[in-house]
Amino acid sequence: MHTSNAPVWTANTIDEALRLRAEHPDATIIAGGTDLMVFVEGGAVQLIEVLNIWGCEGMSGIEANEKGIRIGALTTWAEIARHPSMPDALRECANTVGAAQIQNRGTVGGNIVNASPAGDSLPLWLALDAEMEVASIRGSRRIKASDFWVGYRKTALEADELLLAIHIQTDVRDRLYYRKVGTRMAQAISKVMLGGRLRIENGIVTEARVALGSVAATPIRLMTVESSLIGKAIDSAAADLVAQEITPIDDIRSTAEYRTSVATRIIRSWLESEAGQQ
Ligand SMILES: Cc1cc2nc3c(=O)[nH]c(=O)nc-3n(C[C@H](O)[C@H](O)[C@H](O)COP(=O)(O)OP(=O)(O)OC[C@H]3O[C@@H](n4cnc5c(N)ncnc54)[C@H](O)[C@@H]3O)c2cc1C
Repeated sequence: MHTSNAPVWTANTIDEALRLRAEHPDATIIAGGTDLMVFVEGGAVQLIEVLNIWGCEGMSGIEANEKGIRIGALTTWAEIARHPSMPDALRECANTVGAAQIQNRGTVGGNIVNASPAGDSLPLWLALDAEMEVASIRGSRRIKASDFWVGYRKTALEADELLLAIHIQTDVRDRLYYRKVGTRMAQAISKVMLGGRLRIENGIVTEARVALGSVAATPIRLMTVESSLIGKAIDSAAADLVAQEITPIDDIRSTAEYRTSVATRIIRSWLESEAGQQ
C-alpha cells in the first residue's frame, strides 16, 4: 500500500475551493477518490498536495426547474439513480457504474474530469448536449460537452479551474437511450457504451445524437450516422455507416473488430426498437 504525507487542503465552500485551487496549483483535486486513489495506490500518481472538495457546499445535489437540470459535480451516482427528475437513460447509466460502494462515493464530476475513454457517462453527456459549468477565481464559464474532452484523458479545463456542475435540458419530443457493454453485468470496465437521442416530430427525426465511448481516445459523436437519420422516419439502416466512422483499437479488454461489430449491433437494435414504438 502506498501512503502519502502530502498536505491536504479542505474546501467547504466553492469560493474557498477556487481560492485554494489558485493558491496551490500543484494540488491534486480529490472528490470521491474512487478513480484517483487507484492511480495513487498503483504508484502512477504522486501526491504533492491535495485539495479535498468532497463536502464542498454548493457542488452537490440536483436542481430541476423549467429552464433545465443542474447536476452538481459532487453528486454521486446513487443520488442520480434515485432522483425523480433524472432521465431514465441517465439513471440506467448511474446503475451500471461499479456497484453500491462506488455508486455512493463516486461523483459525476470525477467521472467527467477523469476523462477515461471508458468513463461510462461520457457518451450520454454528448447525447444530451450537456454543458459543463466550470470556474476559477478569474470567473466562470460553460463548456459544451462536445468541446470538453480534447484528447486521451485530457479536458478543456484550465489548470486553475474546477468543474462545478453539469447542465442538461430534457424535451418531451426526445427519446434518450443508454447502453453499456462489458464483460459481465456488474463491476465491468466497458468495451463499448452508447448514448443516443432522437427528437421525433410528426414521425420524422428532426435531431439525432449518436455517441460512443471506449472506441476512441475520447467519447465521440457519429456525425454521418446522425445526419443520415435526420429528415425521415427512424431508419435502422443508419447503423450500416458505423464502421466508416470509428477506428477503435485492440486492447486487453477487446479487439477493434469486436468493438466495431458490437457498436453497429447496439445502434441497430436501438434504432429498430425505437422504430417499432412509432
Ligand atoms: C471498483 C471500481 C469500479 C468502478 N467502476 C466504474 C464503472 O463501472 N464505470 C465508470 O465509468 N467508472 C468506474 N469506476 C471509476 C470511478 O468510480 C468513477 O469514474 C467515479 O465517478 C469517479 O468519481 P470520484 O468522485 O471518485 O473521482 P475522483 O477519483 O475523486 O477524481 C477523478 C479525477 O477527477 C478530478 N476531479 C474530480 N472532481 C473534480 C472537479 N469537480 N473539478 C475538477 N477536477 C475534478 C480529480 O482530480 C481526479 O483527477 C470504478 C472505480 C472503481 C475503484
